[in-house]
Amino acid sequence: MSQEIRFDGKVAIVTGAGNGLGRAHALLLGARGAKVVVNDLGVTTAGLGTSSEAADAVVAEIKAMGGEAVADYHSVTEGEKIVATALAAFGTVDILINNAGILRDTSFHKMTEEQWDLIQDVHVKGAFRLTHAVWPIMRDKGYGRIVMTASGAGIFGNFGQCNYSTAKSGLIGFANSLAIEGAAKNIRVNTIAPIAASRMVIASGIFPEELHAKLKVEDVAPLVGWLCSEECQDTGGLFEVGGGFHAKYRWERSYGRFLHTDSLSPELVRENWERITRFDDKAVHHANGGEGFKELFERMAGNAIG
Ligand code: NAD
Repeated sequence: MSQEIRFDGKVAIVTGAGNGLGRAHALLLGARGAKVVVNDLGVTTAGLGTSSEAADAVVAEIKAMGGEAVADYHSVTEGEKIVATALAAFGTVDILINNAGILRDTSFHKMTEEQWDLIQDVHVKGAFRLTHAVWPIMRDKGYGRIVMTASGAGIFGNFGQCNYSTAKSGLIGFANSLAIEGAAKNIRVNTIAPIAASRMVIASGIFPEELHAKLKVEDVAPLVGWLCSEECQDTGGLFEVGGGFHAKYRWERSYGRFLHTDSLSPELVRENWERITRFDDKAVHHANGGEGFKELFERMAGNAIG
């Protein structure tokens, strides 16, 4: 067996760590030597009520294993206060797992602006507030590991989740830009789209009930642990993980078609629609936006038609 991945001397913040996925991430990091800030507002899956019990229970579990942890009960919408808890207790931050989340599912024609705003506030603004507060710390020390928690709904959309899928896809774009900006400072930023039978998922009835036992929240944490390790240099990645399944997503662009710009018209686009939208072996996967533009501009410089 290769050398164990450890987090000794590292300080980690895990938001929404009182239940489900966040709890599993916090336990894994705590068991492997990290000093953990266990943040949790103690709300229902719809974001109602508050309680310190969830965070306290996980802190007690980490301490019972011989680890170090402190509880934090702020909402992620006050993310800088959670970072202040980390600084007061442990003096720095090396790892940030933006995990806290809630649902306000309803079909779009019934969705209120309040339901929309609440979801953007918790998922996107919350991740922003925390990340903005840890960013100068990580830049100064030339080290950081950040994980965003997206969702299949953010990649593909989902009925009844216009608010949630917007927030989750927003986090993917956020992470991708952070990965570029943090590269020179050894700050690696990745995103997961987890699949696990947490209380949130059980309440929403999304996954087949007979698979719940196979979709344990603990099975998502090892990938997150790897992404948060010093050894892992991947950044800007989007990973699907759950029930033992691990995979990476990427964008695919059809080879496409250059059309004569002097005769461009909706009809010409219609005539070429099959070629424009065809995914064959000439389709390309760019690692980043720069590669995408490079390929396009080279074809453009060659006065490509077709
Ligand atoms: P969960 O309900 O079990 O846990 C979420 C935790 O976040 C709760 O303990 C809750 O109190 C806390 N929380 C909610 N709002 C908060 C706030 N404003 N500030 C601080 N803490 C807050 O749900 P989970 O399934 O473990 O979800 C964790 C994350 O994973 C969420 O972002 C969710 O959207 C995402 N996700 C989960 C799945 C899945 O299959 N379980 C799939 C895709 C995405």
